[in-house]
Amino acid sequence: MKCMICKHGETKTGTTTVTLEKAGSTIVFKEVSAHICDNCGEEYIDDFITKELLKKAREIIKNGVEVDIRKYEIAA
Ligand SMILES: [Zn+2]
Repeated sequence: MKCMICKHGETKTGTTTVTLEKAGSTIVFKEVSAHICDNCGEEYIDDFITKELLKKAREIIKNGVEVDIRKYEIAA
């Protein structure tokens, strides 16, 4: 897909780190699948993955965890 930010680059499949901060808790997901622009480095994460991350973050926060770093694996 063409990058929407720089309008020149093509996005390539890769992984990124996503940090979610909510209600005083910080949840970090590593190795999240993303589409990364080969020109400006902008990262695009699929909607369903974002939803999945938010859902997981809510579950983690519910357990009273303040800082959590985990490898994100999804069966896409
Ligand atoms: Zn770009």
